Amino acid sequence: MHRIDEDLLMIPGPTYVAHSTLRAMSRQMISHRGKEFGDILTECTENLKKVFRTENELFILSSSGTGAMEAAISNIVEPGDKILCPIFGKFSERFKLIVEAYRGVPVELPIEWGDVPEAGLIEEALDREEDIKAVTITHNETSTGVRIPFDDISKIVKKHDILLIADTISSMGGDYIPVDDWKIDLCVSGSQKCFSIPPGLAFISVSERAWEEINRTKRRAFYFSLPEYSESYKKNPPQTPYTPALTFFYALQNSLRLLLEEGLDNVIARHQKVAQATREAIKALELELFPRKEDSCSVTVTAVQMPDGVQDKELRGTIQKDYGILISGGQAGLKGKIFRIGHMGHVTDKEILTTIYALEKCLKKLGQRIELGAGIEAAFKIFG
Ligand SMILES: *Cc1c(COP(=O)(O)O)cnc(C)c1O
Repeated sequence: MHRIDEDLLMIPGPTYVAHSTLRAMSRQMISHRGKEFGDILTECTENLKKVFRTENELFILSSSGTGAMEAAISNIVEPGDKILCPIFGKFSERFKLIVEAYRGVPVELPIEWGDVPEAGLIEEALDREEDIKAVTITHNETSTGVRIPFDDISKIVKKHDILLIADTISSMGGDYIPVDDWKIDLCVSGSQKCFSIPPGLAFISVSERAWEEINRTKRRAFYFSLPEYSESYKKNPPQTPYTPALTFFYALQNSLRLLLEEGLDNVIARHQKVAQATREAIKALELELFPRKEDSCSVTVTAVQMPDGVQDKELRGTIQKDYGILISGGQAGLKGKIFRIGHMGHVTDKEILTTIYALEKCLKKLGQRIELGAGIEAAFKIFG
């Protein structure tokens, strides 16, 4: 069929950007040391704190999400410091790589991809190893489609009175993540996933306990020095140490207004519903979810095992060519073994039903025994 529109982005970032957000980005530049920017920075920061459910200081960095991960590590790690890194996918592994880059010592806790680190495993590791300074935790492992039992893990980490560093890049703004209740010391997120703006901004919240460690650490961070950020934020007007990506701040301001207008709880409920509908559709089509347990499935990305006899390239290529829909493949060792449907940001019943329809038609076209309509019907039941 001939299509004139842009592709529908059903990938785990970048996500669809609302037209009002795109328009907000076409504004002229302003001084980043003036009151006008100070007001934007303050509004964005206050609204992000509502999404993070935190009273902690929070900073907006001009980088992709990985920049905030690096900020978290580089502000607290000195050579030789031990950091516990549960590794259960590509993004949790990234923390380990950053720790190594700053000459820290990652204590690796390998977990099979598709599984989640149970709190008990983390407790064992903390009891076994002495002098661990922090634990890094990926709340939503985008590469395998799992979401971890965060609350339990937080209790264990806090019992040991060490820092809790969380990557919520692909879940904050789409899932329930109460930073203060879960006592997350350094919580990082990014712009192009649930926040529905282009890639280019990252966020980090910093607890009192984290400040104690940061102030004790002989710092190696320069561009991402958190004390520098804190000082600049306290200036009048509030500002960032170096020139911020102004255009993305215009976008963030608009996108956060949209998010809070819909209501954070409603946004989360919408993500949960879309995720549930996706899972029901996948099961009805007799495909298999990749996460080992269904209750550890992410609410922002659904990972599905590639059916026998289907090539990743063919499946994704056909869906894009025939329907103008983009879905993702597997990363690293999961390449060709799974496909992933991102449903974060402005995704509703409309986009997910269209995607399931396209998936059914393409699997059928590729010779799979698919009962056309079964997935749609199962999803439809969830949306009611
Ligand atoms: C996307 C993602 C990242 C990396 O973010 P970039 O913006 O690409 O730097 C890190 N962690 C998770 C869980 C992600 O989904």
